[in-house]
Amino acid sequence: MSERADIVIIGGGNAALCAAITAAEGGAKALILEAAPEALRGGNSRHTRNIRCMHPSPSGVLLGRYDEEEYIADLRQVSSGRIDEHLARAVIRASQDCPSWLEDRGVFFQPSLSGALSLSRTNAFFLGGGKALLNALYRHAHDLGVEVRYEAQVRHLEIESGRIIRIDYAKSAEPGGPPTGDIHRIVPESVVVASGGFQADIDWLARAWGPAARNFLIRGTPWNRGMVLADLLEQGVDGIGDPTQCHAVAIDGRAPAFDGGIVTRLDCVPFSIVVNRDAQRFYDEGEDIWPKRYAVWGRLVAAQPQQVGYAIIDSRAIGLFMPSVFPPIRAQSIEELAEKTGLPKERLLSTVGRFNAACPDESNFDPGALDGLRTTGIDPPKSNWARRIDSPPFFAYELRTGVTFTYHGLEVDDRARCSIFGRPMDNLLAAGESMAGSVLGEGYLAGFGMAIGTVFGRIAGRQALGLR
Ligand SMILES: Cc1cc2nc3c(=O)[nH]c(=O)nc-3n(C[C@H](O)[C@H](O)[C@H](O)COP(=O)(O)OP(=O)(O)OC[C@H]3O[C@@H](n4cnc5c(N)ncnc54)[C@H](O)[C@@H]3O)c2cc1C
Repeated sequence: MSERADIVIIGGGNAALCAAITAAEGGAKALILEAAPEALRGGNSRHTRNIRCMHPSPSGVLLGRYDEEEYIADLRQVSSGRIDEHLARAVIRASQDCPSWLEDRGVFFQPSLSGALSLSRTNAFFLGGGKALLNALYRHAHDLGVEVRYEAQVRHLEIESGRIIRIDYAKSAEPGGPPTGDIHRIVPESVVVASGGFQADIDWLARAWGPAARNFLIRGTPWNRGMVLADLLEQGVDGIGDPTQCHAVAIDGRAPAFDGGIVTRLDCVPFSIVVNRDAQRFYDEGEDIWPKRYAVWGRLVAAQPQQVGYAIIDSRAIGLFMPSVFPPIRAQSIEELAEKTGLPKERLLSTVGRFNAACPDESNFDPGALDGLRTTGIDPPKSNWARRIDSPPFFAYELRTGVTFTYHGLEVDDRARCSIFGRPMDNLLAAGESMAGSVLGEGYLAGFGMAIGTVFGRIAGRQALGLR
């Protein structure tokens, strides 16, 4: 027997809640199907800290002014032009009232902390982070009568004549595992897919990236396996985005395989040299200030043997970057550091020696600005903050590729509608990471993920109301 339902939202993160709340406020009966157990609800939204919002004048916790043209210019710069201008501008404009919309539903904001990422003008920070935001939205949704089913992993959507006619879901003991228990069937009026990307399915990543992906760590939830995405794409629903594109950063190699979140990030790279398994440097560690270069290091490390790198600093670098959650490997000499890390000793000594010999006079060293302290005669150069590594103790951090999210997803229009073989579908909508590739095809701007999810979640909720 199939159960009937009004608006069914697949996923339990920010985009899903924004859609469910909007639908419920419009008088609809909204049902959320969340694959994860209650304690782990909320997907990658749990790990977030902020949302990027346009504002023509100071507003709430946002300082100064950040207008549409500056926002879109920032997006163009990070995406090599791979953005949909129309959808991106729609997100930017609608981002303006996201903080007040969220505040009205119980979310609190706080002024940004000063630190490695200076985002106080552009990004509004959630008080208590993403978990507090989600708790507030779940509470509000509950008060509106939204039903949430946990451990409800959607496995298949049946399509007939451009319409979703049935949703199949089941409990699964583990994210990639088979169903444990009955398959439940729902006949929906409309469906919002808000189930994130596919980055937690390592086999899918490996098909796109090759075997190197097996050494990647996933920064977010193990439940975002793209099960709904794969099911829909296989049936001809229009997809968008390059499967090989993902946002990846270099994180502490000791981070867990999933859900390490933001604390495993390492900010020491600009004050280090980074070598691979063969103790060779492979990229300019001082190319630009860290917030601008932080996202390139995931891919750089992914391209190295065994997908690993080692950032090496000396005692003078301690205190210049945000402390790490795990202590670094410590040694009194470079030889000892080589022994402790397993790096080839002679090669490491030679790499550090050549680097030190290439460093300029360091009297103008300035960790807070591009100081122009550049090496000479080595390749790759280090363009800023090139200071000799010669003051024991020495420290090393193992770096690995940490995947944040993937870009390949569902193509939507400005009403969050999906299409099949180029024709709009009757009752299938998408919001958040599941469709973010429709807006941005490459690169990333901090806080834009939550902007897309909040804006398109609300659009999908409104659109679903109109389908009743
Ligand atoms: C460590 C980290 C930090 C981040 N920080 C920020 C930040 O500060 N600002 C920002 O803008 N972005 C940030 N991002 C990106 C941000 O997390 C995403 O853009 C955003 O959370 C996407 O929201 P969403 O609702 O689309 O997906 P998610 O929040 O990931 O939710 C997806 C949901 O779908 C569920 N699900 C998956 N498959 C199924 C299925 N088959 N059936 C049912 N449910 C399913 C999952 O359990 C989950 O609840 C960060 C990401 C990470 C990993």
